[in-house]
Amino acid sequence: MQVFQDIGDIRTARWSDPLVSWGLGPTMGFLHDGHLSLVGRAKDENDCVGVSIFVNPAQFNNPDDLTAYPTNMARDLELLEANGVDLVWTPSALQVYPPSFQTYVDVEQITLPLEGGSRAGHFRGVSTVVSKLFNVFEPQRAYFGQKDAQQALTVQRMVEDLNFNLDVVVCQTIREPDGLALSSRNARLTPASREQSIVLYRALQLARQAWFNGEHSAKALRTLMTDEVGKSPLAQLEYASVANCSTLEEMDHVDGAALFSIAALFEGVRLIDNVRIQ
Ligand code: AMP
Repeated sequence: MQVFQDIGDIRTARWSDPLVSWGLGPTMGFLHDGHLSLVGRAKDENDCVGVSIFVNPAQFNNPDDLTAYPTNMARDLELLEANGVDLVWTPSALQVYPPSFQTYVDVEQITLPLEGGSRAGHFRGVSTVVSKLFNVFEPQRAYFGQKDAQQALTVQRMVEDLNFNLDVVVCQTIREPDGLALSSRNARLTPASREQSIVLYRALQLARQAWFNGEHSAKALRTLMTDEVGKSPLAQLEYASVANCSTLEEMDHVDGAALFSIAALFEGVRLIDNVRIQ
């Protein structure tokens, strides 16, 4: 496995054999089995796999959240090596955003609701850094998690709108045995918050079950999720949404594919989760 900070070194390694296909998994590090599932899928579908580890300051609207973001580069590199990754980019913030930097990518409507509502500028930061990653690695395929459903949709929109020459592959959410979606942020939960955090998946499951049982009113499904999360004293709900899977517009009546999603704070740690209804 080769590890570089410098963009020129990444390009040289990536193009050492122009005939091999590359899959890319962008990450912010502090890796877990969710990230490694992207690596596994990329390995299955490409000759070589690249991973980026970069805690992107441009996508954090809250400086405290950025400072508190967990990191462990040595462990991350061990995990990536053990999982057969070929090339890792670990740039510094100055390499990604030199002082003269002034170009941003802004995907419009789809970034406005949900995460966009509570994290101003978040998706502008995501779209910008992902564009840069695509330009640096020029992968044939890029791998994202369904856990960050709005992010995956935003990247898909951007790839189509700006004609990036690659396929976006969205991989299923990997969970703890009790249902909590794996996230680097889970490491910051207190034991009490960790115990209560499973309420997110429980609320999503309840809504899904109610939908299967014939409850198609989006308002009733939102209320069901809100009430369930309300039972956990440490959970501060930000949103409980029932939205169109492709546009993310809130629905009135769930008669087609829908995305049920939730965001909540647990003692200052912000968690998100979602399930898709077909
Ligand atoms: P992050 O390091 O949190 O920016 O995540 C990097 C990539 O891993 C994103 O595409 C995430 O959607 C994906 N990811 C994070 N958590 C999970 C999970 N529990 N299951 C599947 N993919 C995930």
